[in-house]
Amino acid sequence: MGPELQILGSNSAAFAHRRHHTSQLFRIQNQLFLIDCGEGTQLLLKKYQIKISKIDHVLISHLHGDHYFGLIGLLSTMHLFGREKELTLIAPPGLAEIISLQLKHSQTWLMYKINFVEWTPDEVELVFENQQVTVHTIPMDHGVPCAGFLFREKEKKRRIHREVFSGLDLSPLEINRLKIGEDLVNPDGSIKHKNKELTLDPLPQFSYAYCSDTKYKPGIIDQIQDVDLLYHESTFADDMEERAHGTFHSTAKEAASIAKEANVGKLILGHFSARYRELDVILEEAKTVFDNTELAIEGTKFEISNKG
Ligand SMILES: [Zn+2]
Ligand SMILES: [Zn+2]
Repeated sequence: MGPELQILGSNSAAFAHRRHHTSQLFRIQNQLFLIDCGEGTQLLLKKYQIKISKIDHVLISHLHGDHYFGLIGLLSTMHLFGREKELTLIAPPGLAEIISLQLKHSQTWLMYKINFVEWTPDEVELVFENQQVTVHTIPMDHGVPCAGFLFREKEKKRRIHREVFSGLDLSPLEINRLKIGEDLVNPDGSIKHKNKELTLDPLPQFSYAYCSDTKYKPGIIDQIQDVDLLYHESTFADDMEERAHGTFHSTAKEAASIAKEANVGKLILGHFSARYRELDVILEEAKTVFDNTELAIEGTKFEISNKG
């Protein structure tokens, strides 16, 4: 199964119209990343039957409350449920201090270690890497230190063509050579098997960019060019363009224009203002600029398919 994004909360500053504050869950190659953790995130995790013990990485975009006020509650619950394995918290400067102060004054001594990875504002930084995935920050323009996150799968190995391969007696070393694209050679240097006869092309690599919160910032287009899936905040519709600019937020059309210029596969809009009970206007305005757009409705899962 390819990567999958599940929307937990998708509203901006205030809880309204049954929409919670921002939070999402991104699954890639058995890793579970919680992206932002607004108030109520724990309840949403429970509602959608997600085991919090499986979350090993939490990424926080910035320190406005709608993106992290649920964090201390979640950290405490992990502790009460007996968590012992380390949790990585990818966070803006200041969050480590806030959390340690909250724990200190409640005299809570966590049974697990928090590994803080503090990113540098206004820089593109690698904040996570394993054998399959990298995560870089995307500097946002939001009046306070704020970062989006770009997830990219690493290049995958070639796949063994089982049907052709079954009659051959190959060593593990030879199989590894095939997977990295080499031909198999005899001791005299002649070709024993051509790579292309025994392997299939690697599965596609997927990418996801999370961009919240930000003023319209065309400067990010190069970095997110051609991603399969883009989440971009669209706090307001066109009627509130001036307010969007004054509060360092984007309109739906601006989010769609970023998607179009970056040639992404699909755009998801979120971080809606409480002033919109119905979100049709946000979706319709965006679609006039970039058609493959959907709303971040709570609970929705987006399977990420390769844009090709
Ligand atoms: Zn926000
Ligand atoms: Zn904000």
